Amino acid sequence: MSAAPSQPLPHERARPLPPGSTYPAKDLCSQCGLCDSRWVAYVRSSCAFLEQRFESMEHQAHGRTRNLDDEDELYFGVQQRMLSARLAAPIEGAQWSGIVSRLGVRALESDLVDAVLCVQQSPDDRFTPLPVLARTPAEVLAARVNKPTLSPNLRVLEQLPGSGIRRLLAIGVGCQVQALRAVQATLPLDELYVLGLPCVDNVSRQGLQTFLNSASRSPDTVVHYEFMQDFRIHFRHADGSEETVPFFGLDTPALKDVFAPSCLSCFDYTNAGADLVVGYMGAEFGHQWITVRNPRGQRLLDLVEAELDTAPVTSRGDRRAAVQQGIGAYDKAVKLPLWLAEVIGFFVQRFGPRGLEYGRFSIDSHFTRNALWLQRHHPELVERHIPAFARRIVDRYTLPTP
Ligand SMILES: Cc1cc2nc3c(=O)[nH]c(=O)nc-3n(C[C@H](O)[C@H](O)[C@H](O)COP(=O)(O)OP(=O)(O)OC[C@H]3O[C@@H](n4cnc5c(N)ncnc54)[C@H](O)[C@@H]3O)c2cc1C
Repeated sequence: MSAAPSQPLPHERARPLPPGSTYPAKDLCSQCGLCDSRWVAYVRSSCAFLEQRFESMEHQAHGRTRNLDDEDELYFGVQQRMLSARLAAPIEGAQWSGIVSRLGVRALESDLVDAVLCVQQSPDDRFTPLPVLARTPAEVLAARVNKPTLSPNLRVLEQLPGSGIRRLLAIGVGCQVQALRAVQATLPLDELYVLGLPCVDNVSRQGLQTFLNSASRSPDTVVHYEFMQDFRIHFRHADGSEETVPFFGLDTPALKDVFAPSCLSCFDYTNAGADLVVGYMGAEFGHQWITVRNPRGQRLLDLVEAELDTAPVTSRGDRRAAVQQGIGAYDKAVKLPLWLAEVIGFFVQRFGPRGLEYGRFSIDSHFTRNALWLQRHHPELVERHIPAFARRIVDRYTLPTP
């Protein structure tokens, strides 16, 4: 990484864009925060929505690109190990069992890093993200649980120069990690570890409200939610009660435009550039799903592995017919009556895809939807925006006419 330069680097001459100005990716901007820092100088060669560069990123981060002929790598990216796990002593209030937060805490306690880039919540709204460079375990724990909205994580790069932080653990979703990897060599850091989250269907704060209003019986009291492997959305309310709603009962016509255009044009669901990825969708219900991409990722996992109940990943069922049917239903914006949604949910939950096959179901469904969205809304970007691995997956299905 960069030694102290004698001449100012381009980013040192550049001024951050004022928040709210038009960002270079325009309607496709995911507000990753890069353009609110002086590293905006690199936006043309780093923004995930101006140009996709998976191959060079994978090469830079892992020393090789994914093997497209290996089904696990085609779907889940470069890897040396996948496992399913949960913290034996879960962290209360975390999104799942809290592996990500515990890892951030241990990275500070073991002096692996000086700070952790993570996302706390704004003081007046639990769902408005507040990215920080956490220097203490308490600050990392304050960032636990998803803020399911677009988050300007890279804005805090602006605070790095002069901070004394030379070793950083960055936690983030794919678009943030793509931009971070692209500017990594110019950052004033000696070490960068990247802990990725899979991510799909993110929304603006306003879009989140539309979603909650349409899907939950009590939108104002929701404190946590997740689309889970049992094909239901689980909402937790402020009084501790839980509400579950079948995926198939969502008001698709009302929700079709709710997702951010960045997410509708994204193919980095499984966070290809991270050293270690911690999600849930490739694990059995109740467990988290871990992908170690390279030795740095294993070094991160070593910080918490003794605290985990682990199990091998599993895979059951066959997703393909369900994906193909879902493409047509989504495109026609079909809204099912709740009783029918419950019946379908019952059968899918019992006989539908599980484990890694559920992960592939979700990837197939989102990649086909996004390819179609790009063809319809940005046909000029299709060629350079859909990476080879996503194209190979999309080509397995029949899409409606653009
Ligand atoms: C927007 C979003 C969508 C996701 N979608 C999927 C999915 O489709 N499939 C899947 O398998 N996993 C998904 N995940 C990951 C999953 O929901 C959990 O976050 C992950 O398994 C870690 O759980 P945990 O209990 O260890 O996290 P915790 O210990 O609770 O820590 C959560 C971490 O998330 C970070 N964070 C919170 N909000 C954001 C944000 N908006 N942007 C970046 N970082 C954030 C915080 O910094 C914190 O460190 C998603 C995460 C996010 C943030």
